[in-house]
Amino acid sequence: MGGIITTHAALLPGERTSAAAGQHTGQRTLVIFGASGDLSSRLLLPGLGSLLAGPRATSVRIIGTGRSPLAPDEWTDRVRSAFESRGEISSAAADTLATTEYVAGDPTDVEHLRALLELAGPAPVLYFSLPPAVTTAIVAKLRDVELPEGTELAFEKPFGTDAESAAALNQLVGSLVPEENVHRVDHFLGRTAVLNLIGLRFANRLFEPVWNAEHIESVEIVYDETLGLEGRAQYYDNAGALVDMIQSHLLLVLALLVMDAPATMDAVEVRSEMARALRSTHLYRGSAIEAGRRARYSAGIADDRVVPSYADEDGVDAERGTETLAEVTVEVDTNRWAGVPFTLRSGKALGVARKEIVVKFKPLRHLPSGLNGARDGETLRIGLNPGELSLSVPALGVDGPYTMGQVFLDATLPSSSVLPYGEVLSGILRGDPLLSVRGDVAERCWEIVEPVLAAWRAGEVPLDEYDAGSNGPGTWK
Ligand code: NDP
Repeated sequence: MGGIITTHAALLPGERTSAAAGQHTGQRTLVIFGASGDLSSRLLLPGLGSLLAGPRATSVRIIGTGRSPLAPDEWTDRVRSAFESRGEISSAAADTLATTEYVAGDPTDVEHLRALLELAGPAPVLYFSLPPAVTTAIVAKLRDVELPEGTELAFEKPFGTDAESAAALNQLVGSLVPEENVHRVDHFLGRTAVLNLIGLRFANRLFEPVWNAEHIESVEIVYDETLGLEGRAQYYDNAGALVDMIQSHLLLVLALLVMDAPATMDAVEVRSEMARALRSTHLYRGSAIEAGRRARYSAGIADDRVVPSYADEDGVDAERGTETLAEVTVEVDTNRWAGVPFTLRSGKALGVARKEIVVKFKPLRHLPSGLNGARDGETLRIGLNPGELSLSVPALGVDGPYTMGQVFLDATLPSSSVLPYGEVLSGILRGDPLLSVRGDVAERCWEIVEPVLAAWRAGEVPLDEYDAGSNGPGTWK
């Protein structure tokens, strides 16, 4: 037959399959820009430490860089304490510690970039753990520098500030390296519970046949935190809950939840299915005003701590009207999903840390007469953190022999010792973009939420209030 072209898993220009995209097995040099920063010490290095502590450890040399004048010991101590946060130092971690170095310098200076690349040697991974504007400035400078063959570029979120700026950044990045060497990091894709959506759906006879609008009534993807601002006003007050959580993390979870089965677990196949699902995703019933709700917390007690009103937090510009709780409902316009509302919600300083996907099945159309009680359908809860599964199923006998009730089948997913950042880094270091967000997907995630952001900025949707420690505004059902 030969020459079959599959339309939905077609390669983008310049894209190769993971198998063809140099799967690195030897030592890799990871250059961390912004190495002195919060992300590097709190998430990136501990994530790498968790990878190096386990059976999938690879050989990694780290070069940290930034303007801070860190002494060699000071840098090595930072890396060591990040690794130790995952337990004892493994032999792979000890090797990394023995070779790591820190090079102080201005990352936007071309001479500094050239010196770094020379030190790093062949096929380095350049990880931009920097404020986004600084990352963009460096990427522009990299056009004046010869990048070694096989260079991999890793970007933190947010990738751009809207679809247009994300597209411009994609174009710039695409002029430097091929798409499969670009890693737009979203650590939710490294969470065991999120990855398991693939197993739950595509390796499971029980769910896949009923995973459609015929059987499913509604879906919620919720990531509610009890934590408040925690000193991150500079970033958060400019982002808000919608951009911080829904535009990136929760839309990617949605993509895995609704996409069709990939032909293989190759990055091209999986990422094409995710992209296709998101291209079909739109605001519910097309209305930016009706599809989204927003609110901001006032003073209260969350998780036994006194939380000041968001507007009074240090560094917050109350006039900006940043939301700390956002909810957006979307639909997926495919034959499989048409008409099913998917509600994505995330907020801070809430009473309950609810982090889960809730899939509500429709009740059966008809029950034998003589059966009493509620006629609710099944509800599947998939915990995002920790990974707990709970399926409530209708059963007789809960309140009497012929009365319907619900019983619960509960399970806990095996938890990986590799942290989400470690999982994503594992792919990056191997040169496999499977868990990296593809460029068109990064743009599409902005496109989906942009009408809501515009309606909120124009004041077309009220900014509701909720007490810290409550479950959201009383007017929200
Ligand atoms: P920081 O604000 O801590 O900045 C990281 C480092 O960047 C700083 O330590 C500083 O290092 C360098 N830097 C800051 N400003 C400049 C500048 N104007 N020019 C050159 N270098 C500068 O950021 P985070 O570590 O918190 O975040 C890094 C990235 O990760 C951001 O894109 C963020 O959105 C993303 N992110 C962060 C999360 C977090 O929890 N922190 C979570 C998810 C994503 P030096 O002074 O040594 O040069």
